[in-house]
Amino acid sequence: KNQNGNYTVTFIEGDGIGPEISKSVKDIFAAAKAPIEWESVDVTPILKGGKTTIPDAAINSVKKNLVALKGPLATPIGKGHVSLNLTLRRTFNLFANVRPCRSIAGYKTAYDDVDTILIRENTEGEYSGIEHEVVEGVVQSIKLITREASERVLRFAFQHAEAIGQKEVRAVHKATIMKMSDGLFLSTAREVAKDFPHIKFSAELLDNVCLKMTTNPNIYRDILLVMPNLYGDILSDMCAGLIGGLGLTPSGNIGDECSIFEAVHGSAPDIAGMDLANPTALLLSSVMMLQHMGLNNHADKIQKAIFDTLAEGRALTKDLGGSSTRSQFTEAVISKL
Ligand code: NAD
Repeated sequence: KNQNGNYTVTFIEGDGIGPEISKSVKDIFAAAKAPIEWESVDVTPILKGGKTTIPDAAINSVKKNLVALKGPLATPIGKGHVSLNLTLRRTFNLFANVRPCRSIAGYKTAYDDVDTILIRENTEGEYSGIEHEVVEGVVQSIKLITREASERVLRFAFQHAEAIGQKEVRAVHKATIMKMSDGLFLSTAREVAKDFPHIKFSAELLDNVCLKMTTNPNIYRDILLVMPNLYGDILSDMCAGLIGGLGLTPSGNIGDECSIFEAVHGSAPDIAGMDLANPTALLLSSVMMLQHMGLNNHADKIQKAIFDTLAEGRALTKDLGGSSTRSQFTEAVISKL
């Protein structure tokens, strides 16, 4: 909290449609009188020791404020450029990625009862980047699983279940095939579960979850899913597909100290600057951020205004089959506040 009684939050507006959808968040937060003061930082990559990285001012701002909201960052293509998203994840040790997916009234998809929460381990597994060529035509990629990183994300999953009143945590794995790596994740899960006797623990094979999720997603309504990195990457996009795509899905990256909330989609260069972007995913990420900060009243109020506007269907953006601009959608949400 700062001297005005507000919370200062770092805002990385991002590239492409980033500044436009960020403006929607700022305008809606102002209208909702949310006690947030934004500290906008520039993360245009700089060269440091021959590598592209994020400016120190941006890193220091997140370290100071502990919470950040982030628009999409365009990843520069070419050698020597590391993904800035990966850099942020590593810099702040954001070990858990939380992805809720809930069907949105007013946007019809093949499923209307999706309500899942998935937690993805964010630091290791196939993403460790340990690959080499054994001989020409043969490469090896190492999937690294440690008890430490597994325990950290599993403990967070149980704590998150407690915080949101979820009664069951389920580890998703392939320990039948990856006997040692997923086996370690699973045995760690069983150990951690002992510390949360009031929360039910279960485990399920990834392929089975995919099958059931696309047959009857309703089964996962009351179960929080937690899993290693790559499985979470794929399964969370699959769940996003069930509710109508990446334009609607928020996410939170949780670390030991800092947390960064962001939309799942990219910078959409094809529609940048045209006032056509749908700000819903970044808005729902900002709602997750408010919940994380314990500002539940403001979170509920803003979330309700967004869902009511979508359900009414009069101010939908083009990606949802409507003809409204981003500004018109934003105004419609504000009018509900
Ligand atoms: P993208 O998500 O930017 O776009 C895919 C398609 O979805 C486009 O047609 C786009 O117009 C549409 N779209 C995305 N968000 C939308 C929104 N809010 N409203 C309406 N339509 C929307 O994916 P891409 O084109 O593969 O990537 C573009 C850039 O974004 C790349 O540089 C990529 O590296 C980066 N990216 C960043 C992140 C991130 O920062 N988290 C995530 C994914 C991609």
